[in-house]
Amino acid sequence: MNTSYIGRFAPTPSGYLHFGSLVAALASYLDARHVGGQWLLRMEDLDPPREVPGAQDAILRTLESYGFQWDGPLLRQSERLPAYAAVLEQLFNQGLAYACTCSRKQLEGHGGIYPGFCRNAGHPAHDAAIRLRVPELEYRFTDRVQGEFRQHLGREVGDFVIRRRDGLYAYQLAVVLDDAWQGITDVVRGADLLDSTPRQLYLQELLGLRQPRYLHVPLIIQPDGHKLGKSYRSPPLPADQAPTLLLRALRALGQPAPEELAGASAAELLAWGTSHWDAARIPRRRTLAEARLR
Ligand code: GLU
Ligand code: ZN
Repeated sequence: MNTSYIGRFAPTPSGYLHFGSLVAALASYLDARHVGGQWLLRMEDLDPPREVPGAQDAILRTLESYGFQWDGPLLRQSERLPAYAAVLEQLFNQGLAYACTCSRKQLEGHGGIYPGFCRNAGHPAHDAAIRLRVPELEYRFTDRVQGEFRQHLGREVGDFVIRRRDGLYAYQLAVVLDDAWQGITDVVRGADLLDSTPRQLYLQELLGLRQPRYLHVPLIIQPDGHKLGKSYRSPPLPADQAPTLLLRALRALGQPAPEELAGASAAELLAWGTSHWDAARIPRRRTLAEARLR
């Protein structure tokens, strides 16, 4: 078993898998399997009110029908709430995080960057959002596809929410704790999460966690500029078109799948991809228009 590479796919059940998720799943799978690494699956079910009933099952069935096999049991974030609570309490008690009682209305007109109203207010943690204090520093990392990425946490992000007022934990906190807990060495995901990465680097630094390598694949967008996914309800990936869509996804990732693969099965396409994977061929772009891939 190769533990020097542990990758993962981490879908959110607020919708079904779409072509953009397939591209991300395929990239993380091939990047792991090409080096004989492990590939784990984590269901990011942190937000029950936004969960589409049946989406978790549909996601698992889609992955199976597209030939993806994951290692070990599925991890659900809903099983990890005690771990998130413990870290949140630690950050709060150390004064690294604080309670914020601002209403949405009070935060209007600040360009989405928290103006720090509650920073020194000393509010109690209950019935409040919990925000992490960010340093006035620029965080940078080198993405394997996108190259150098930098972001000033104070100026471009501001103190960010790690637990919502309704008690739900934020993605940024959960993803960092789970990547570390699962021993993830390589995060391969869509470029929509590039600008979340500096927040995650800061949390890793604060908690003394190892920093994984990052590879952000281009986000697949609709001709009208909509990104596929969350805010845009896309239909589920059709099970009977697995080979066609896998071939299209391989090509979206710049992998030169030969014409002979046109009649291949999903398993054969994944096998070809695994042996020929070359991450250096992934287009160095943030977005790709889906219509151009047909
Ligand atoms: N759950 C996130 C999503 O579906 C992905 C998180 C990640 O890969 O870090 O967009
Ligand atoms: Zn506040």
